[in-house]
Amino acid sequence: MTVESALRQGFKLLEDAGIPAPRLTAEVLLCHALQRERSYLYSHPEAELNDNAWLHYGRYLHERLQGKPTQYITKKQEFYGREFRVTPDVLIPRPETEHVVETALRLAPRARRVLDVGCGSGAIAVTLQLEMGATVFATDISEAAVRVARGNAEALQAQVWFAVCDVAEGLAEARLDLLVSNPPYIPRGEEAGLQREIREFEPHTALFPGPTGLEIYERLVADAPRLLSPGGWIVMEIGYRQEEGVRSLLRRGPWQDVETIHDLAGLPRVIAGRCGAVT
Ligand code: GLN
Repeated sequence: MTVESALRQGFKLLEDAGIPAPRLTAEVLLCHALQRERSYLYSHPEAELNDNAWLHYGRYLHERLQGKPTQYITKKQEFYGREFRVTPDVLIPRPETEHVVETALRLAPRARRVLDVGCGSGAIAVTLQLEMGATVFATDISEAAVRVARGNAEALQAQVWFAVCDVAEGLAEARLDLLVSNPPYIPRGEEAGLQREIREFEPHTALFPGPTGLEIYERLVADAPRLLSPGGWIVMEIGYRQEEGVRSLLRRGPWQDVETIHDLAGLPRVIAGRCGAVT
């Protein structure tokens, strides 16, 4: 079996099963089986796969056909130009979430103390630490997620302080300049409408906070003035129908300069605000 025919067969299997981007997926899985870069596939179409590579490729194709996301098979996902290790214990970092990073860097470029609530793989916390050189804290309710995030921080040489806790409970007054979060925000009722890849493979604690989807924002926005220094920023990713709900939570507190950032699809994706002096 050559590289070229392996690709062709993989492509056909994936395409027939209706898997999106079948060509790219076959290439990524074959690269993973061969432990090679993608350019190798094109420079060596006649190379013979050894038994081991063939076996692995077959297993990866099978897993993908069962609905497992490619990133959980290869155990990696790029985010803001860096490679993060991902396991089924953490949400796969989405490109849209880079808007959280961009917004934080724009609004609070000189933040010295930063907290990421619900850090998952650590993509946001690690990225902000490396981009800003700030002191970064990160929490997650899942101990397994914190283990993955800690591994990413170590591998990318970011200094992040991790704690396993629910939202920011147990964190003392933190004098933060910046609080960021991509919390779970999908309303429970929308579970059935999600893609199989998400619904059956991604951690439900990272996706569903409760019936409205606003449950974590309620707690986070209420707790944030305690954690932020006056003038500190909150930057949160939101679901596509949550702008009004999250804005109304912010109206109840000492928030100023509230803005919504839209993603490349034109959907509201990030809400940011500045904490006024607590009276
Ligand atoms: N953006 C994710 C999705 O659409 C949800 C992430 C989250 O709930 N924070 O699947």
